[in-house]
Amino acid sequence: MSMQEIRVRFAPSPTGPFHIGGARSALFNWLLARKTGGKLILRVEDTDLERSTKESEENIKDALHWLGITWDEGVDIGGPYGPYRQTERLAIYRQYTDQLLATGQAYLCYCTDEELEAERQALMAKNEMPCYSGRCKNLSPDDEARFIAEGRKPTVRFKVPANVEIGFKDLVRGAVVFDSNGIGDFVIVKSDGIPVYNYAVVIDDALMNITHVIRAEEHLSNTPRQVLLYQALGFPVPQFAHISLILGKDRSKMSKRHGATSVEQYRALGYLPEAIVNFLALLGWSPVGEEEIFSRQELIEQFSMERVAKNPAVFDVDKLNWINANYMKKLSPEELAEMVIPHLEAAGYISGTLSPEKRAWVTEVAVALREHISYAAQIVDHVDIFFNDSYDFENDEARMLLQDVDLPRVITSFREKFHAMEVIDVPGVKALLKAVTKELKLGGKKVYMPIRVLLTGKTHGPELFHLIPLLGKERTLARIENTLKKI
Ligand code: GLU
Repeated sequence: MSMQEIRVRFAPSPTGPFHIGGARSALFNWLLARKTGGKLILRVEDTDLERSTKESEENIKDALHWLGITWDEGVDIGGPYGPYRQTERLAIYRQYTDQLLATGQAYLCYCTDEELEAERQALMAKNEMPCYSGRCKNLSPDDEARFIAEGRKPTVRFKVPANVEIGFKDLVRGAVVFDSNGIGDFVIVKSDGIPVYNYAVVIDDALMNITHVIRAEEHLSNTPRQVLLYQALGFPVPQFAHISLILGKDRSKMSKRHGATSVEQYRALGYLPEAIVNFLALLGWSPVGEEEIFSRQELIEQFSMERVAKNPAVFDVDKLNWINANYMKKLSPEELAEMVIPHLEAAGYISGTLSPEKRAWVTEVAVALREHISYAAQIVDHVDIFFNDSYDFENDEARMLLQDVDLPRVITSFREKFHAMEVIDVPGVKALLKAVTKELKLGGKKVYMPIRVLLTGKTHGPELFHLIPLLGKERTLARIENTLKKI
């Protein structure tokens, strides 16, 4: 018997920014598809007409492309089971609705919102579960005619069987059981003819031959309704896998309070897509060994649903920064420059087209700061010392360093050797600093620290052998002069 091809889907609702939780769901589906040689389908669930926008849909596709998450069938590329946008599938849903109505598995409900709300309030006041009473289940033809005459537009409700256990096997959570008595007859088609999520998702997953539904844990409570619909429509029930919630570091549900929550925000801050993918993979999945840095290819090789954990994943931005810094180290100087230039422009340090010389200089600045930043936007916190020749002492510690008795000797020796240098480059400055320490018989710190303060006003920063060649001869000497005037 041949193994059934694995078909998974990512089915976003295009109603706003593309949340990292959504990206994580997309990633796990993609990993399973790529690992098994299966297919990933991108389906757009846009039945919330008020909140769905084309812009959000474009944005999601764009972010997926950026992350390197590719799909095999879907909205923009089509495929054998299209259309892949729910608002283009309304005729398909209608057919199944007719079937459910004809077989008595669904019925028209004429209750108004006010009536439903009053019913709900009454049940809650009695401490009962606020389930729909089923009032319209057996309407007499007279009542129905009256409601129609009143101009009421019916919804379609699914008839939930009483006293049944709805069980399914979840690949992450194991056996899950719900009691049908906790679920009232629920609306599957709204009065405007638009199906609700729980209904459309079942028809689509079934018709698109989806074998595994991998999605966020918050949909777990929707699953019993969906299982009932699969059964009522005579569709095979797929495998489910509900991946854990993403919590902030304080263990509350991830929200804006915890910082950036959308893929676009991380992209705009200058994170690398391979780092985001690497980080998201570790939000809920754990590799076998200790290694934490994985390329997409390595993730595909190592991923398995068995190692997707049940307990909540904690979004640790420090870890993301650490992972991103790892990937930044692997960039070529030109790639690094490409990443930081927009941030330098936004901060007003550079503008317009850069001359080749200026571009080369900016590239070297980025290289000098590479070890000091975790993502591209952070460059602006460190770069001022390269652009700005006037600065104050950062703190008293910096000021005090220039009170050292050895300072005059350090300056004299440095200047003398520096004047004599013809080419100010990294090896040259390294040799020069060494020569100063040797000549004065001082420890490295006694030399580097005051020179750093003289040149930047700060006690920390990029290596002097990076800084000095980038400042060049004149600016280096002028800075020393200027600082000396301040002490
Ligand atoms: N459109 C739903 C969402 O974005 C899809 C949930 C599912 O994967 O079934 O939450």
